[in-house]
Amino acid sequence: MRKRLVAGNWKMNKTPSETKAFIQEIAPLLADADCDVAFCVPAVDIIPAVEAAKGSVIGIGAENMYFEEKGAFTGEIAANMLVDAGAKYVVLGHSERREYFGETDEGVNKKAIKAIAHGLIPIICCGESLTQREQGITLDWIRKQIRIAYFGIPAEDAVKTVIAYEPIWAIGTGKVATTGQAQEVCGAIRELMTELYSAETAESLRILYGGSVAPANAKELFAQPDIDGGLVGGASLKLDFVKVVKPE
Ligand code: PEP
Repeated sequence: MRKRLVAGNWKMNKTPSETKAFIQEIAPLLADADCDVAFCVPAVDIIPAVEAAKGSVIGIGAENMYFEEKGAFTGEIAANMLVDAGAKYVVLGHSERREYFGETDEGVNKKAIKAIAHGLIPIICCGESLTQREQGITLDWIRKQIRIAYFGIPAEDAVKTVIAYEPIWAIGTGKVATTGQAQEVCGAIRELMTELYSAETAESLRILYGGSVAPANAKELFAQPDIDGGLVGGASLKLDFVKVVKPE
């Protein structure tokens, strides 16, 4: 049985002091959550977030990392630094990183391998543009992204990862995919994982939906058979996030 994960992605929001105050305020409200909860936060917020989340159900994650172990890569952050700072998760291949910072599927693959080697849980993002959806190539595109992201990753490591399906046209737009659209793609990802690995691997791997998840739509989305929670942007910055984690 897969345990649901609801992970916030703060993007470039909240200073370290805002982080501390917010996590201290929201942690008691999430104490009875029946799923895993995470906040993936800007790098400078990781340490204060980990400290503020101590003793709570909240796990802290990063929004990116580099695939090299260490060295002359000015501005980058290595997996062991995230682990030492107390991070548990790392978001990889978010569409904003792909669009603005040239992130590729091949880079995501290298990062995923490195993250797993250091015991981080990568949340591997995939998703199609509106044009791709209108062209009817969504599933082909997603399968390509996933095949490359998991290249060379053995089954025993693949099960430790999380996939987030995030249609680009639904991110930050208030335009949520229908439950049918979200389930169709998440189901296709699980089928692909069966093909690449085994039914057992595919059944144990968590697949999240992301794209304008909010208190009003979380319950229906998370009730879909292949949707094991959400990656949540805007709604994870406010106390209302509690209603996404525990939808009524
Ligand atoms: C995201 O940042 O991954 C995301 C899905 O954002 P939003 O929930 O704001 O659409």
